[in-house]
Amino acid sequence: MSLEKCSGLVIRQVDFSESSRVVTFYSREFGRFSAMAKGAKRLKGPFDAALDLLSECRLVFIRKSQGTLNLLTEARLSSRFQPQFSGGPDGILRLYSGYYLAELLNSLNEDFDPNPELYDQAIAGLSQLAQPGSETWPVVIWQELTLLQLSGLLPNLQECSICGSSTDSVDVHAHWVSQGGLICGECRREEYRGNLVRTDSLEILRQLCDCTAEEAAAVRLDRRQIQECHQFAVSAVSGILGRRPKTLRYLQLPR
Ligand SMILES: [Zn+2]
Repeated sequence: MSLEKCSGLVIRQVDFSESSRVVTFYSREFGRFSAMAKGAKRLKGPFDAALDLLSECRLVFIRKSQGTLNLLTEARLSSRFQPQFSGGPDGILRLYSGYYLAELLNSLNEDFDPNPELYDQAIAGLSQLAQPGSETWPVVIWQELTLLQLSGLLPNLQECSICGSSTDSVDVHAHWVSQGGLICGECRREEYRGNLVRTDSLEILRQLCDCTAEEAAAVRLDRRQIQECHQFAVSAVSGILGRRPKTLRYLQLPR
């Protein structure tokens, strides 16, 4: 048992009793962890309004031994995730994209396995999603790729995962999930069901893997590129989780 301090993002909340909640955080110092927040459901509770989904907080908690729930003792709000709805029709998409990020952070990480860079990138992505002038979909895809990349789970974007030939040399690539990467037109067989990733989309994927959230928010994509890049990332994520992320159903692709 020890008293710990950290910066954390609220990624999940579950009601525990009439007045208490179990809150899951993704923190810079400890990675993912859950803690009991006693009195969190009370209007004038000890944590005020610091524990909303995707709020970034300064936290103090008592770390218990394995198998026992940690206890949150202090939560001070640093910033709240408040996408601007006035800026356009995609305000709700920005909000759901944040929820989607929370689900990915929760499901792709283990408890107490810190990755400070991943934390910083999640904060940077949320900050772009909250900006009215930014492009939403490139930031969503950037977040998916960044999470995969920093967790060491990003499929190889450089070569066919069967024959190893460079993906620069062929026009149309298929992504084959069970193989864990891209396959070239030569290796593609009818029985391999996979999403097409055309050359321009592959270029975008590479670009998004190698830029900041701010740069991603300025990338312009057409509908097909959004679809191909997002589906590529989703199949990689789903392959790892063994299911599709639940919040995905709220993310409407552009018509
Ligand atoms: Zn091949």
